[in-house]
Amino acid sequence: MAAVRYKMKCPKCRKNYVVVTRRQSFVRCYDCQKADMKGEIKDPKMKKMFKIPEEFYKENSFLRAIKVNYLRYESLSERQVEAFEKVVKQMKEDKKEAKKEEKKPTSSA
Ligand SMILES: [Zn+2]
Repeated sequence: MAAVRYKMKCPKCRKNYVVVTRRQSFVRCYDCQKADMKGEIKDPKMKKMFKIPEEFYKENSFLRAIKVNYLRYESLSERQVEAFEKVVKQMKEDKKEAKKEEKKPTSSA
């Protein structure tokens, strides 16, 4: 289920690299999108959904794109919401795993 990811230079600032998947058409680095991600979210459900650690947005350009999209159009398709939640869940699990590895570098099974 691994999506193909690759690094490309941000087309806007041409300075920072962004990790993207092939399906992604709009690419910006975190620095360039930071301003676009600021805005008031009125819908409490959406507010909750977008309330994730800032580092997730830094690491994942897809999450940024969804947030920027929502702030611009104030709506998301069901599929976008689903995809967003799926990515967040995956990232949370990955972090948990990483922490576990850190704590006990040698596993005695
Ligand atoms: Zn940039």
